[in-house]
Amino acid sequence: MFDHASAQDEMQKNSPTLPYDLIVVGAGVAGLNALFASTEYLSSDARVLLIDEKANAGGMWNTAYDYVRLHQPHPMFTVGNLKWDWNRPRDYLARRDEVRDHLSASLEPVAKAVNLETKFSRRVVSCKEIHDTEGFVAEVSCHPVDRPSDIATFRARRVIHAPGLNYRVAEPLALSSNNVVSVIPQDLRQTLQDHPGTDVYVVGGGKTAMDTVLAVLEQDPARTVTMINGRGTNFLNRTRFLPTGLKRWTSGALVSSLFRDIALSFDGTNGEATVGFFRENFSTEPDAANGVFLYGLQSEEELARISSGLTRRLPGYLADIRDTDAGPEMQLRSGATETVRRGSIFVNCTGSFFRAEMQQEHLPCISPHGTLVSINARDGFHFLTSVSGFFLVHLLFRDMLRGRGFYTMDHEKLFRQNRNAWVGASAAQAYLNQVIAVQSLPMMLLDRCGLDLDRWYPLPRRMAGLYRMKARAAEDIAHCTHALDVVAQRYDVHAAPLD
Ligand SMILES: Cc1cc2nc3c(=O)[nH]c(=O)nc-3n(C[C@H](O)[C@H](O)[C@H](O)COP(=O)(O)OP(=O)(O)OC[C@H]3O[C@@H](n4cnc5c(N)ncnc54)[C@H](O)[C@@H]3O)c2cc1C
Repeated sequence: MFDHASAQDEMQKNSPTLPYDLIVVGAGVAGLNALFASTEYLSSDARVLLIDEKANAGGMWNTAYDYVRLHQPHPMFTVGNLKWDWNRPRDYLARRDEVRDHLSASLEPVAKAVNLETKFSRRVVSCKEIHDTEGFVAEVSCHPVDRPSDIATFRARRVIHAPGLNYRVAEPLALSSNNVVSVIPQDLRQTLQDHPGTDVYVVGGGKTAMDTVLAVLEQDPARTVTMINGRGTNFLNRTRFLPTGLKRWTSGALVSSLFRDIALSFDGTNGEATVGFFRENFSTEPDAANGVFLYGLQSEEELARISSGLTRRLPGYLADIRDTDAGPEMQLRSGATETVRRGSIFVNCTGSFFRAEMQQEHLPCISPHGTLVSINARDGFHFLTSVSGFFLVHLLFRDMLRGRGFYTMDHEKLFRQNRNAWVGASAAQAYLNQVIAVQSLPMMLLDRCGLDLDRWYPLPRRMAGLYRMKARAAEDIAHCTHALDVVAQRYDVHAAPLD
């Protein structure tokens, strides 16, 4: 495994024909799962190239805020079936750098299995299917991040394009006041040190906001912390649904069965009711009025720490902070106002996905001649890119992607239109594609998907679950496809079988 210097790029600039067997664009958990899965189909002398614009593998776990933690147990966030190289308790929630290092470590077994080259700090500017003397192939053009005019082009029999969901480090909120401090989570710890004792406002109610409240309280339990939490976010109750010890045998429920319940509660029109159903049955706060669900997990213990440490939760959305004679004044979108103390810290936890003004470019999940597979949100196979990376590659190499009823969907367009319809539709799609994958792929292979949260439970419970899934497959497939067809019509978004 090595990163060729620009001399080789130079050579390749004018002579793009370089028969890689596979190129993977993106070294996040999705690209790495795709890369790892592909080694099962490639010979040991296969030439494989991994390209990423970052300096290291690990994707967004290189640039996320330093106090982010996995919200699922660490064994279920991995590459293929790679085990974590440590003996921490199974329910330990890994930290940012631990996740990044685990993901990077997956390159070692890949480099033993195939002839792997890596090109980091290279930005891919085009990825397309072309016809050359060898037939249809895929072509990738990239340049060193700091030399945009230095374009090199590579061809491969197959390309997996896994650039992530356009995760960008947020900007501080643009606030009119000169008397408050506006920061992003990446700058939180230093800001707390520089401004001891000042009030903290966490703007947002999702996972980043939860992590931020916990980080502030950990650093300074005496702070006054307010969460401005929009419609309120529901979290899957990790204590109940990923229980520890003997309870793994006696309580909880397979996560695939929760997905089934959510999927079956959705008929294509009732996103609000589906989120309500989730809140009442699976969330940490069944009696709250929280109106959003973004697939975050939370333990009852985390909720208790937040509830006891938070000074208050303010429903609604922040519009601005303006300076007035009485001091800085907070304005909410509802029109409500209140003064805040000078020097208060506002942390932007409003989310990192689909925030750009323009939607991402539409790229088909699979190119017409099957040489280019793209893991993206406009023609997405699963709302979790990691799961897409694993399954798309196995299905691609087995020539099973098309004609089996797998659905792809425009997650981004639907999410931007109606988040709760997206919850229902993404659950229906995830369950539908899982059922079809279970019907199509050998059991041994399914068992190598370390991302499967059902693996939390002992084998006998999982086997019983698989049996139930297969027994109910026909009617569940019919329900999910109908719901997705309704979504496609009602919201004018792409949601259709891969044919
Ligand atoms: C704050 C935060 C916390 C999260 N926590 C969790 C969690 O606990 N559990 C969970 O399951 N999910 C979590 N997620 C979701 C998370 O996005 C996924 O888990 C996953 O890490 C995304 O992987 P990815 O490979 O799709 O994207 P990324 O990790 O973003 O990787 C994509 C890679 O592609 C590269 N790339 C993109 N464009 C180009 C280009 N043009 N040229 C070259 N390289 C390019 C990028 O540099 C990047 O390395 C979280 C997300 C955020 C933002």
